[in-house]
Amino acid sequence: MYHHIKKLMFTVRVGSPEPRFGNMLLEQFGGANGELAAAMQYSVQGINCENIPCKDLLMDIGTEELSHLEIIGTLARMHLKPMKKDAEAAEHDPLIAIAGGGGVALCNSMGNSWTADYLKVTGELDVDLRSNIAAEARAKIVYERLIDFCDDRGTKEALQFLMTREITHMRAFTQALESLGKAPFSIGKIPPTPGIVDQYYNDSTGEGDLGEKDTTGPWNDNDFITVVEAPALKEFQAVKATPTSGETTLDKNGSKSTGSKSSKQPGRKK
Ligand code: MN
Ligand code: MN
Repeated sequence: MYHHIKKLMFTVRVGSPEPRFGNMLLEQFGGANGELAAAMQYSVQGINCENIPCKDLLMDIGTEELSHLEIIGTLARMHLKPMKKDAEAAEHDPLIAIAGGGGVALCNSMGNSWTADYLKVTGELDVDLRSNIAAEARAKIVYERLIDFCDDRGTKEALQFLMTREITHMRAFTQALESLGKAPFSIGKIPPTPGIVDQYYNDSTGEGDLGEKDTTGPWNDNDFITVVEAPALKEFQAVKATPTSGETTLDKNGSKSTGSKSSKQPGRKK
């Protein structure tokens, strides 16, 4: 059950309202990586969660995000309020001034309505936790940009608080994921196809006008990856992808490009 207490989780003070900045703040109110999206994503995941400790974590953080929503909404409202009566302020966002009376609505900074399509809820706990880690990272970087574009001290402090909590959440979700004890690339139950899983397709080749060229890194230069050069140009086709067999890829000349040589675990360096 939910209960509302007439206090903000972080006291919001605004020196001089800036309607244009209030508009930017809406990104964290009704935007894709905003507080409502976070609150709903974690709460809905929590309702679906059968792992008792993780359900508690999801409901704790989902509920905290609602408190964040209240903070960012209050903050945005303080910045937008002059639009209600001041024509010059209203010019920054006529929609908020005319239709919303200088108040917040569940829209992002571009005026698009909030949508449940923002939510990532798969019903697979480790997959959901990965989505949450990424969501917290996105929220953090949006707060950082807002802080960079803000001169008001009180506003900066509230944003700093909200930004900090996202890192706390990101860490908690990461620790929850680790606590499940799953191997890093073990998603779901059906194993990937041996051979195919260890192929790297060099699908972008040549040299660009700005000096872009093929590079190597840990993702394509190690002892378990087979690099397939320009597969499309060789009319490369994978013809079989059962979970137990993957020695089935041919190039134009009919020679096998690669094969399943052992029962190596995907993504595991020996
Ligand atoms: Mn938050
Ligand atoms: Mn968060």
